[in-house]
Amino acid sequence: MKRLTGIVLPAALLVAAFAALHRVPSMTPSQRELALFAPYLALSGGLALSVAFNRGRVLLPLLLAAAFYLLTRAYPPPYLPGTPPRTVYLAASVLLPFNLLLFCFMRERGIFTHSGRLRLAFLGLQAGAVFWAVRSPAASAKVAELAGRQLVALPLPEGSSLTQPAVAAFVLCALPILVRVARRRSPIDVALLGAVVALGIAMNRVGDQFVPTLFVTAAILLLTIAVLQDSHSMAFSDDLTGLPSRRALNEQVMGLGRRYVVAMLDVDHFKRFNDTYGHDVGDQVLRMVGSRIAKVKGGGRPFRYGGEEFTIIFLRRDLKEVTSHLEELRKEIGSYQLWIRGTDRPKEAAAGKAKRTGGAGNGKAVTVTISIGVAASGDNMRTPGEVIKAADKALYRAKQRGRNQVAT
Ligand code: GH3
Ligand code: MG
Ligand code: MG
Repeated sequence: MKRLTGIVLPAALLVAAFAALHRVPSMTPSQRELALFAPYLALSGGLALSVAFNRGRVLLPLLLAAAFYLLTRAYPPPYLPGTPPRTVYLAASVLLPFNLLLFCFMRERGIFTHSGRLRLAFLGLQAGAVFWAVRSPAASAKVAELAGRQLVALPLPEGSSLTQPAVAAFVLCALPILVRVARRRSPIDVALLGAVVALGIAMNRVGDQFVPTLFVTAAILLLTIAVLQDSHSMAFSDDLTGLPSRRALNEQVMGLGRRYVVAMLDVDHFKRFNDTYGHDVGDQVLRMVGSRIAKVKGGGRPFRYGGEEFTIIFLRRDLKEVTSHLEELRKEIGSYQLWIRGTDRPKEAAAGKAKRTGGAGNGKAVTVTISIGVAASGDNMRTPGEVIKAADKALYRAKQRGRNQVAT
């Protein structure tokens, strides 16, 4: 369900842009004049948010969309062959999708950082190259020749402004982004896919004033909303384990019904573990524990409560329905052998493999145990706060009795 909603919003925005397009003929001239400012309005919001949240992967695509729109406003089409705007348009229509693809697969490195500035400079470099091509008749001719080439003997639909190489660039760049979206659906990836589609449509009907206006606006809104979605999901998920965070637990607690079970889990002697093996190995253990907890059976919803403590909420369950699942989870974590590497890093892949399989070297398996406290809602406990407190008390009892056990 959650995975679907991520796609629905961008799709709805594109549909809305198409719907708005049909309203254009019935607009008065002054309304049309106003509509032409929609991209700038959206852009100001998008720039402000992407800068505030330090999202270079959104800011740079926004700048590209804005640059394209400014081009259509400063030099209205038609772009006659051999004219400078035609050269800029041709170059932009091929470069833009590749840039979006690049930003999609680049890791977020911020805006006012070294990498952020380098990426901005990279865009500047391309703008410089296009500018140079415009000034040199030979280079302009080359751009027209390359970007205007007929690749296959198929005509493009009536009214298309994109050339075949540009269409190929858009399709070629959309595909890897699509694969990435299907795999790990992050809001910004989805927005970049939407932006490729929207800007492709905008560039393909550059002669119709309102297609660029509406679809550039849609692309900008998509990217802007993704910044918010991304920050939202970051606030609700834990960075280390990928589990929902304490904040998500608080939200969940608001919607609890009458019947539910709360389990509090805590890694045993974790401080000692950290002191012995170091914080990095400790983090690795937390990731392992988190991944096991995420797979808890019986319909449990896992959360990282904080530090080495986790919470599982079982909706519409009572104690006897969940204890066996928790026992199973406890045993599974206790028997998991985490291989840690020794201090000397294997130099060759073969040596590394030998170590990991326990062949030679000083690789070592470590294990941890967890204690679990469980409490169910009931007549004497009405609020979730009380149930969580009771689970905490049960956890304390599990620790007192020698750890590595489930207590109710
Ligand atoms: P007990 O069996 O009673 O639970 O003992 P404990 O040592 O696990 O309990 P305590 O709460 O004293 O120690 C928790 C330790 O967890 C302290 C802290 O160093 C470690 N810790 C908390 N969060 C993290 C984290 O994100 N990464 C790592 N590596 N360690 C963490
Ligand atoms: Mg603790
Ligand atoms: Mg502990």
